[in-house]
Amino acid sequence: MNKIKFNIPFTSGKEIECVADVIERKHLAGKGFYTQKCNQWMKDMFNFEHCFFTPSCTDALEMTALLLNLKTGDEVIVPSYSFVSTANAFASNGASIVYADSQEYSPNVDAKSIESKITKNTRAIVVVHYGGYPCDIESIQTIAKKHGVILIEDAACALGSNVKGKPIGSFGDFATFSFHETKNITSGKGGLLVVNNTIYLNRAAIIWEKGTNRAAFFKGEVDKYGWVDYGSSFLNSEIQAAFLYGQLMSYEKVQAARMNVWNQYFSEFAEISQKVGYRHNAHLFYLVLPSEKERDAFIKHMNANGIQAVFHYQALHNSSFSIEKFGKFDCPNADKFERCLVRLPIHCSLTQGEVNKVIEQTNAGLTDANLSLVREN
Ligand SMILES: *Cc1c(COP(=O)(O)O)cnc(C)c1O
Repeated sequence: MNKIKFNIPFTSGKEIECVADVIERKHLAGKGFYTQKCNQWMKDMFNFEHCFFTPSCTDALEMTALLLNLKTGDEVIVPSYSFVSTANAFASNGASIVYADSQEYSPNVDAKSIESKITKNTRAIVVVHYGGYPCDIESIQTIAKKHGVILIEDAACALGSNVKGKPIGSFGDFATFSFHETKNITSGKGGLLVVNNTIYLNRAAIIWEKGTNRAAFFKGEVDKYGWVDYGSSFLNSEIQAAFLYGQLMSYEKVQAARMNVWNQYFSEFAEISQKVGYRHNAHLFYLVLPSEKERDAFIKHMNANGIQAVFHYQALHNSSFSIEKFGKFDCPNADKFERCLVRLPIHCSLTQGEVNKVIEQTNAGLTDANLSLVREN
């Protein structure tokens, strides 16, 4: 029996044509023809004016951390229910991490929890659009403005999501995206920093190019270039950009295929899944079960029937590394999602037969776990 995989990265065949072309062009290191093409695509599609493509979303977050010029004692508020990089990029650059909790009925961060954590030392708020579902970004934007702190969107999974038509990634001073193979659009690995607050543009260009003013040199603004700031090797290669562009050309197709699966799951399992079913980019479909025991039994059932269903995230405030560095935090909702959330397979290669089987086995698994109560709530 062939196992139904949780994720299979999408490929269109156009990637190889673009990579073959980039080899012909003899410019492979970065900031070339295909980086420009990807840049233009982002502008046309989402109005992202200032794009810095990076080897990963983690790199884009690290660039952001460097742009903040963090000093000892500076606090950065991050959602506990997220991937390690959301916090680690800032922790690695000297920030004290302060955790905000999830909402009661959504893994996304709670705006009230964020506001309650703001102190005179808060420099920035990082939000995550969990699994591509937009968080309460309008409220959080208002909070950030009110307290004069920088807002960063970790939009790793959220390319194409929007709030009232405004693209995710255009709310924060900064936004970061991932093109890791687990995301909707991929170049194997890959990332993007969108800088919306133009005050940071000059330094972003410098940090992007290893802390040098190389960009200014090529514009003829200085007569030689050298070391002027912090930075690292944050450019993606042209090979990565070419592959990415090959994927971006199939963006609509990817979205349609994922949405087709998502809609079928949602029509079956709406009542134990996400409460907000719009504006997302069909990146992920999750269920919330009543307890860890039932969640684990459900995963076991799915696996026994050839379906890879998976949990995540380990809430960051529970990591022993984090406790040692930043102390204890109380995030009961993040704890609940860590214990009770499970994700179903969603990708472009799923056949209708496989989708049917996932739905059938999910129903069977829910009965097995004796979930009638949850389904009625
Ligand atoms: C995937 C992901 C990342 C990391 O992305 P990379 O491109 O692998 O560095 C960071 N944050 C969130 C929320 C993610 O989902």
